[in-house]
Amino acid sequence: MQNQGNPVKKLHSEIMERSGQDFYKCIQCGKCTAGCPVVSAMDLLPREVLLYLQMGQVEKLMNSKTPWICASCFTCGARCIKDIDLARIMEAIRAKILRPRGANALSPGEIPKELLQKVPQQALVSSFRKYTR
Ligand code: SF4
Ligand code: SF4
Repeated sequence: MQNQGNPVKKLHSEIMERSGQDFYKCIQCGKCTAGCPVVSAMDLLPREVLLYLQMGQVEKLMNSKTPWICASCFTCGARCIKDIDLARIMEAIRAKILRPRGANALSPGEIPKELLQKVPQQALVSSFRKYTR
């Protein structure tokens, strides 16, 4: 992935840089997928995210709902025998999708005040981490 003139390769490099993870260490063992609590709602399995990154097919990821379904629970990273932090990769993908749009996916002003009083603060912080640039 040396060709920075190619937008897909550039995006691939940026996801690797932002996540700090080496996609090529993945051996497709599937332990991440087997432990993921929300895998049934994903259109791409966690291990497939790594597979498409290894193949340089970043577009598949940018159009997938999997990075948004990911709950950032870190189970996959704890199970990975290659110490790959998949949650950070998901986060990097989400950031790359949001940034070109020039907007956050969640605007604080759109959240009803009643909801703000009910939702645990930890959940709110997690949501902003997930849905904002
Ligand atoms: S961090 Fe995301 S992909 Fe990994 S196990 Fe949790 S929900 Fe699944
Ligand atoms: S557990 Fe690690 S090595 Fe195995 S498929 Fe998942 S990311 Fe790849």
